[in-house]
Order: sequence, then structure tokens, then C-alpha cells
Amino acid sequence: MEKKENFSEWYAEVVELAGLTDKRYPVKGLNVWTPYGWKLMRLIDEIIRCEMEKTQHQEVCFPLLIAEDQFAKEADHIRGFGDEVYWVTKAGGEDLDKKLLLRPTSETAMYPIFNLWVRSHADLPLKTFQLVNTFRYDTKQTRAFIRVREIHFFEAHTCHIDFEDAEGQIEEDLKIMESLAKKLCIPYLVLKRPEWDKFPGAFYSLAADSLLPSGKTMQIGTIHQYKENFAKPYEITYEDEKGEHRYVHQTTYGMSERLVGAIVGVHGDDLGLIIPPDVAPYQIVIVPILAKGLQDKVTLECEKLKEELLKAGFRVHLDLRDVRPGSKYFDWEIRGVPLRIELGQRDMEKGVVTFVRRDTGQKKEIDRAKLVEHVSETLREIAENLLDMASKFLLENTKSAASLEDIKGKAGIFKVGWCEGEGCGLEMEETTDMKVLGTPMEKEEYKGECLVCKKSTEIVVYLAKTY
Ligand SMILES: [Zn+2]
Repeated sequence: MEKKENFSEWYAEVVELAGLTDKRYPVKGLNVWTPYGWKLMRLIDEIIRCEMEKTQHQEVCFPLLIAEDQFAKEADHIRGFGDEVYWVTKAGGEDLDKKLLLRPTSETAMYPIFNLWVRSHADLPLKTFQLVNTFRYDTKQTRAFIRVREIHFFEAHTCHIDFEDAEGQIEEDLKIMESLAKKLCIPYLVLKRPEWDKFPGAFYSLAADSLLPSGKTMQIGTIHQYKENFAKPYEITYEDEKGEHRYVHQTTYGMSERLVGAIVGVHGDDLGLIIPPDVAPYQIVIVPILAKGLQDKVTLECEKLKEELLKAGFRVHLDLRDVRPGSKYFDWEIRGVPLRIELGQRDMEKGVVTFVRRDTGQKKEIDRAKLVEHVSETLREIAENLLDMASKFLLENTKSAASLEDIKGKAGIFKVGWCEGEGCGLEMEETTDMKVLGTPMEKEEYKGECLVCKKSTEIVVYLAKTY
């Protein structure tokens, strides 16, 4: 498996060999979550739930089916999603008199109910989230965890008294993104999407973009300010202290199994996955090195190691299969377990165990008496190294460019001068065969000209090929 030479093939092969998915399901774009893949996803979900809890969001679960008239209330929204919707038109043999659709996202399922939940300023802010499946009939080439038609979706929906309060929510969302991405060891850029690429119905959209080794970016999270754009058609209003009725201001925050795709793509190598310790289904695998006649002693000691590590709160697996240690190494390397512990008779006599790091391949002997301490430290070092390597890659592949022709079709992220005109932006996309990702959240010092119309500008815009 050669990751650098052919990322696409490598990716397709590794997600299957590592047991993250089973691609044999007979409907395209629908993922079978295998035990190992689902465990990884659930560990990511748990971090998200924990962050939501910390910030006083409440978990809800709305219906999968939405009535057509509710869906059609916000004009931009239906224009944006209309072509991707799966419809339910029949029940048994009967045509439904009211067509239903599978949620592509849940604004139009939730907001008719938010209309009833929000009454007075005392009901605000309303902060909710759900982790559910959504459906989008995407016609582009499907790819496990990156482009799917049934999406494992996290969506937070909030309502606020005014624009400022909603802006505060977006700042909180950005901090949550930061904390989550750090645990996944995934660096990213926060960019404000251009007008023509914002979420259908949003006032503005922010996106977190990560960079995969193919040189294409992948959106791993989005945060939207809706202002009153949905509150008006869904009549979500509250009575303020003076008894006047006002529209709420809303935000949403979305993420999906693309986080798994990013972990696979960003950290993996020619041997397989490398899963960051905070979300690894198994953080440690113990492989006994058995010599003839000594099986029992070594196995017993390995079981003790396992108990000790479980007690300390680690996710650990003891591989007692009747196969050679070499095949065990191979299997767990593909699956990306961050730390392997080997233990044989010789180690036992010396009072040591052997650590092998998945990220560097580095081997070292560890004092058996200080096992837990060393495991904690090594897992921390692995996480740091993964984030460092990925950050370096992102930095090295984000460059300024002075000509659109020069970067045409190239890999990586390019920063160019832009007048903020939509015409010029679209022409940039056309000339470079890339997408305009948007302008950076934190303003960057820049003095130059728009690469299309040559007007002088202080704005840079980011361009890249995308997934
Ligand atoms: Zn221009």
C-alpha cells in the first residue's frame, strides 16, 4: 500500500483492510458500520457529546421524515437541497396524500417545533443538538466516510435573542472545534465561505477545512449564522421584556463521519491506519511472545498487564490468537493501534516490557514497575507527534501565489489577492480548476491586487481542490 503514490487507491484499500467498513452493501453510498469503525465513530461522538454537555446544549432527536410543506418554507434552503432529496411517496400500496422526505439536514424538522418551544426571552438561548443519520442524494463519486449518501450527522441548532448573542454562540462553536480537532490531531483552517457557496439559507457560513495528502482539502465542520432567515418563515418569535414580539437569531454547527475520513487520510501510512490515542478503539495491544513450554507463564503475565492497564482506564486488547507474533503485528498495524506492548520470557526475567510506537516504529524497553506512567507518557507523545506532522504538512502546503495560471490544477492550498467580487471569484475557480474556499477568519496582513481584475486589495482568498 503506497499512500504517497496513489492516495485514492490507498484510502479505498486501507478503510476496508483495517475493518472500518464493509463495502459489499448493495446500495451505493450507504455505509455498513463494522464493529471497529463504529467504535471509532462512537468515541468521536462521545467527545462531541461531552463538549455539548459542557456548554449547556441539550440532546434531542427529531423525526427522520419531514412533510413537504414544512421543507418548502425557506426558499434558498429548498433551492440548495431540492436536488438531493429522497422522497417517500407511498405507504404500502397507497400513495401518500402528503409527500414526505428523508431529512437532508434538520432545520425544517425542528423549526416548526421551535416555533412552539420558544415563547419568551426566558426560553432563550435555546441550545440543542442531535446525532442522527441524514440523507443526501449526492451524484458525485461516493467514497467511504468522505462522500456518502446516508450521513452520520452531528447538528447543533440554537436560538438567541439577537445577532450579538448568536455571534457569541459561533465563538463557542469555534472553541469546541478546536478542542475536538486537537484530540483527533487534525489541523485545519477556518474560512468564511464566499456568498455563492454558503449554506442554503444562511447569512454566512464558516468552514473548517483540513488538507489530505492528495493536496485536496476536505471540509470537516461547518458553522452557520442564520440571523433571522429561518425564524421569519417558521415564525420563531419571543416576547421581550417590553412585551414586544421579536424574531430569534439562529445558528447551526454540523460535522459528520468525515472526521473519520480525515483521521484515515491525514495520519495513515503505507502500513495502514494510525489512530490518535484519544479515539483509538484500542489504545494498546499486548502481544505475548511465546516460547515452547513457557506459554502459561507468559500468558498469565500478559493478562496481569491487561488488567493493570484496564484499571488505569486505557482501552487495551490482549491478542491471544494462535498465530505468529509477526502476523499479529501486521494486523494491528493496519488497524492503527497507537501502542504495541510485547512481552516474552526474556522480558519477564529482566523486569521489562517492550513498547513499539505505531507512528514512528520506535522500539524501547520499559521498566515493568512503571508501566502505567510510561503508557500515559507514550500515548501523549504519539498524539503530539501526529499533530506536529500534520500541522507541518498543512503549513508547507499552504502557499501564496501571484498568478492563477501557475497554480492551475496543482495540489495544495493557495492564497491569492481578491477584490471580493463574485465574478472574479468564479473566474478564479474556472481558471485554476479549484474552488474558492473563502477568506480567513483571522484577518491576514496583505497588500496587493485582485488576480483577475487587478484592482488593489487587502483581502486574500484561499483556493484549493476539494473533496
Ligand atoms: Zn477582482
